[in-house]
Amino acid sequence: MRSLQYKIIPDRSILPAITSHYIILQPIELEIKTAYRRYVKTKGLPITPPLNTCNEQKDALIAAYENRPKAAKLEWIDLIYYNGLESCPFCGGDGARTIEHYLPKACYPEFSVFSLNLLPSCGSCNTKRNNINEYGAPTALLHPYFDKLLLSRISLYVDIKVEYGIPEFGPLLYDQDGLTEEEICRVDHHIDSSVDEITYFNKCRALFSEIRGRSMRWPTVAEFRKEVVSYEFYLCQKSGDYNSWRYAFYHGLNRLEDEDINVLVADVLGTQPT
Ligand SMILES: [Zn+2]
Repeated sequence: MRSLQYKIIPDRSILPAITSHYIILQPIELEIKTAYRRYVKTKGLPITPPLNTCNEQKDALIAAYENRPKAAKLEWIDLIYYNGLESCPFCGGDGARTIEHYLPKACYPEFSVFSLNLLPSCGSCNTKRNNINEYGAPTALLHPYFDKLLLSRISLYVDIKVEYGIPEFGPLLYDQDGLTEEEICRVDHHIDSSVDEITYFNKCRALFSEIRGRSMRWPTVAEFRKEVVSYEFYLCQKSGDYNSWRYAFYHGLNRLEDEDINVLVADVLGTQPT
């Protein structure tokens, strides 16, 4: 879950290339241009009715996205895959190797090839969401380009409980202080719609094994917090993966009492649980 820096794509100047390749779109070129402007004005929220396109126009818009003919100047779409992201902007899981249409193309075909609507995402949450952000949806997902401010105020953590020395990984949580009810509702909706539970819990277990597998040992919990946890925070913040699952895992770990950390990571501390 993170915001992204938008790379400016001249959508309005690309549009004539698309309509000259797909002639059936020419009668609605101006309407599409107006819809692009409105999308920016409303920050992508699914509150504006979709354009009234005929089936052939809808097919042409979706074909433009799927086929990306050179003549339509859509080669920039392929570059979205080469994003270098270590975590998914939507859920925070690993990588972002698919393209998410923030407003789904089935409902809003006019934004099928609109750069602000095309975002890198991981496959698991992309499949899970499907058409969730369709017209009239009561709550919208967080938009990595437009919800920067809200995203910067969220600090996710994994709810970790320790029972008899065994960690139990709960859902992703965050501190709600200072957020309005509407903001909380959006963040909760975003997490519920994006986090694939199986992938998430497997990642938590893998991160826990990773800690246990460390060959280096630290004399105290305080040293462990300083050398391991703080370093992981630093790495996540440096790469912009502030709310990745990795970040949330270490954040959750850091919230535990010393005693619980001692029990969980005794073998990497060189001390025994008391
Ligand atoms: Zn994802």
